[in-house]
Amino acid sequence: MLKTTTVGSFPKSEELKSARAKVRRGQMDRAHLRSLEEQATRDWIRIQEEIGLDILVDGEQYRGDMATYFAEHLEGFTISSLVRSYGNRYYRKPIAVEAIRWTRPITVEWFTFAQKLTQKPVKGMLTGPYTMMDWSFDENYPNRRAFCLDLARAIHEEVKALEAAGAKFIQIDEPAVSTRVEEVELAIEAMKICTKGVRVQTGTHICYGDFEKVYPKILNLAVDQIDLEFTNSNFALLGLIRKVPFTKEVGFGVVDVHSHRVETVEEIKQSIRRGLELFEPSKLYVDPDCGLKTRLKEEAIAKLINMVAAVREVRKELGAQTVRS
Ligand SMILES: [Zn+2]
Repeated sequence: MLKTTTVGSFPKSEELKSARAKVRRGQMDRAHLRSLEEQATRDWIRIQEEIGLDILVDGEQYRGDMATYFAEHLEGFTISSLVRSYGNRYYRKPIAVEAIRWTRPITVEWFTFAQKLTQKPVKGMLTGPYTMMDWSFDENYPNRRAFCLDLARAIHEEVKALEAAGAKFIQIDEPAVSTRVEEVELAIEAMKICTKGVRVQTGTHICYGDFEKVYPKILNLAVDQIDLEFTNSNFALLGLIRKVPFTKEVGFGVVDVHSHRVETVEEIKQSIRRGLELFEPSKLYVDPDCGLKTRLKEEAIAKLINMVAAVREVRKELGAQTVRS
């Protein structure tokens, strides 16, 4: 009960970031970058084991933007020059110029690399079709639905490839789902295609947006688990879930990824106890609100150490209660 995990990304070192830039400028060969990415992945697997997390991630040391990374590996996309978004952040946006097609595995090699380093399960980590569509330009499709459903079929191929490679848990992130209320049904239709016939555990991560407008509709997403940021909203989501019960496993964010401050063990225990008022311990997975890539490495580690310590103490309390009753 109360399994611990993380949402997906970990901070990258300055060395790795500058290496990526050098490769783009033609000042470093890809093989050198690859060896740095592999070393960073090894480091993050070891760190997660030392912290004592139950379900690990590869840390996404080899990815840039979560939509662009997948677009670079699918047929039918080209990548724009730098586009400005979110204030002063710049990124390269995917452009669909032909029908989107999956022709080869995208994440399987990195999944396998990470899984070989540990006995613990490593999550397969994908970006969902709705978010891929919403974060891309489209110069090919007649409408957003056609674009989104083609992406869903492509991602379904990747899900099957990860399952065949031994992934026990596949997370298909859909952060954009809560940003356009009028398209929730489309996101649901697309997710159904992604996970069709899949036997392993599946989940999705949703963040930003107007959660109150898409809940409880998102409970129709065809996954076993929905992961949400609870801490950043000061647990306002619990009020909604109190009115309409959650019918899936929950990924329960107890660590704010936008704050430098490291939550104390006692604070995190309080947060978990609030969650336990509404969720069974076997269906409550404890994790940070979102990916930790924006934090300093030391902050990310300190937050996770306290998170795992808090979970261990709450598990003990729950065990004691079971013995008494
Ligand atoms: Zn997120």
